[in-house]
Amino acid sequence: MSRIAPVAIKRRYYNIGVFTSSLIITYSVYVLLFGWGLKNGLFDARISGNLPIAIDSAYCFIFASLSLFLSLQNKSRFKSLLSRLLAVSVFTWTILVMIDNFTSIRIPFTIGMSPQTSFCFLLLSLSLYHLNKANRKFIIQGMLHVVSLISSIVIIGHLLEIPEFYRMSFVPMAIYSAIGLFLLSVSSSLVNRNIGLTGLFTGKLIGNIMARRLFIQMALVIIALGYLRLLSHRRAWMSPELGIASITVAFLVVSLLLVWSTSKKLNAIHQKSKLAEQNFRTAVAAAPYALLIADRDDKILMANNETRKLYGYKKWELLGQNIKMLIPEKLHEDYSVKKANFFASPSATKFDFDDELFSKKKDNSEFPVEIILTPVRVNADTFMLLTIIDITSRKHHEEIIKRQVIQLQQKNEELEQFNYISSHDLQEPLRTVSNYISLLQEDYPENLNEEMKLHLSTMSSSIERMSRVIRSLLDFGKLGRNKKLVLTNCSSLLESVITDLGSLIKNKHALISIEPNFPEFYAYETELRQLFQNLINNAIKFSRDDTPPHIKISCKRKKGFYKFEVADNGIGINPANSEKIFHIFHRLNSDEKYEGHGIGLANCKKIVEMHGGQIWVESEPGKGSTFKFTILKFKT
Ligand code: ADP
Repeated sequence: MSRIAPVAIKRRYYNIGVFTSSLIITYSVYVLLFGWGLKNGLFDARISGNLPIAIDSAYCFIFASLSLFLSLQNKSRFKSLLSRLLAVSVFTWTILVMIDNFTSIRIPFTIGMSPQTSFCFLLLSLSLYHLNKANRKFIIQGMLHVVSLISSIVIIGHLLEIPEFYRMSFVPMAIYSAIGLFLLSVSSSLVNRNIGLTGLFTGKLIGNIMARRLFIQMALVIIALGYLRLLSHRRAWMSPELGIASITVAFLVVSLLLVWSTSKKLNAIHQKSKLAEQNFRTAVAAAPYALLIADRDDKILMANNETRKLYGYKKWELLGQNIKMLIPEKLHEDYSVKKANFFASPSATKFDFDDELFSKKKDNSEFPVEIILTPVRVNADTFMLLTIIDITSRKHHEEIIKRQVIQLQQKNEELEQFNYISSHDLQEPLRTVSNYISLLQEDYPENLNEEMKLHLSTMSSSIERMSRVIRSLLDFGKLGRNKKLVLTNCSSLLESVITDLGSLIKNKHALISIEPNFPEFYAYETELRQLFQNLINNAIKFSRDDTPPHIKISCKRKKGFYKFEVADNGIGINPANSEKIFHIFHRLNSDEKYEGHGIGLANCKKIVEMHGGQIWVESEPGKGSTFKFTILKFKT
């Protein structure tokens, strides 16, 4: 069964097909409606020696053009079926015309179509029927070329007024029929434009450019010179000998001029391609990486200086050799599979191996590499351009970084451990001192004078403060331990924070506005809660005496993260301190007025960083502060 291939026709050729078929349909309809009635004008069907386009030719033109138009669309089975049906109608009609012309059987309504025209329509309809069949391309193209040849002979015959050409010993073919058949056959042949003479004229290679330029110009010149020669013969302007000699000279001169102008054009194109090749070679030679080109049989065709330097080979030791000499034996099999995949669908690819990829130098030492394969096309063949990057030093640095990260993690753990143990151990003596103070206060009140009592109570409150600081330190150290990301509804989390801070909010007459539609996202819920609590607490705490606190909380969704803002109308912060306040125990205000330990914002920073974000403040003294932080959009 023949396969129907989709018509992947270039836009330009599609447009030519559509334009031609529309033009021919328009003209044929015009002929059918008025042509036979009109005697004058450009569209007079009887132009060219009273030779009209036959009525059945006009029908055949309409059907054939429609068939071409539909097969160019080729979108639906219906269109392709209709297109073939139209081609079959033309075919059937031409067979009937031929029976009428060449046998004694008379077929009604076969009016005027010449045998040459019917033969051309026969070939055209067969071609249109098979136009989209991949395995009949050559036959189709051949038939279309025959139609183009016959119709062009007829056109030349009309132009030079040689009846033998357009008559071909039969009933003559009208010039309009010839033009129509020529246009239809040429535009149909564009569907398989790489085949036959159409390929010669539509190709992009230098030979095609020459064929296009030279043939079209030559054809026009030859027709013009032939016409002049005939004219001179008919009007007896000169003797036949002089005529032939003149036309020979004229043809030689014109051919020389045409060849000259074409060769100039071709030279310019050649120059350009040579320059491009030269630039490519220079770029390859000057590249900071090892670049080499190999064919599909692994033969090295080109290697730049860097390749030679990297592998320690001389140029002649590489060229023509098998590329596998640069690959360790254990990777040969893997390489062959990757190479086969690359040539199966050539596109720029990174040579990915499960393990690290190594290459082999001349001294057999192996080193880690990264290889990128790029297809390079030369004529019809594809080669592979290998970009080889020596990643020895990168690997070395990665190793150092990896080791440092591990060391850092260990140190961090040690530090957390130390923090935990020391805070824990510090609590113990503090508790003892505090107990003894209480003991002194309770058991020996008569032995203590007022001054001693005051000293003891100062000691006691200092110990209390220190104990709180140690507890905060302990909490800071614990932050993020056993953490787990959970889907957190930010709106309800904020609501519960506000409920918890209820009495503070009430006492300070604070107003808290939260933007609607806070997102739901993956977060460390307890820590996130603490983050909001600290920020809102600070915003209320550091309010101005004369203004009740007004806090606005908002969230914006950005690409890859959320950005939150907690803005207040409080005392503000000097921008010089905007970084310091996130350091542990760093406070800007007196203990008397604003109670605190200077650990809240350090906690906030740690929590935000746990969420892959950043925190910062924008503020001016007396004008309020806006704390901003980001949180990564975690996938789980
Ligand atoms: P604490 O609140 O216990 O003092 P923080 O670490 O929470 O400790 O804050 C550090 C310092 O940053 C505070 O002492 C204060 O000076 C300043 N600060 C924090 N939040 C605000 C705010 N909303 N407005 C003004 N200053 C602030």
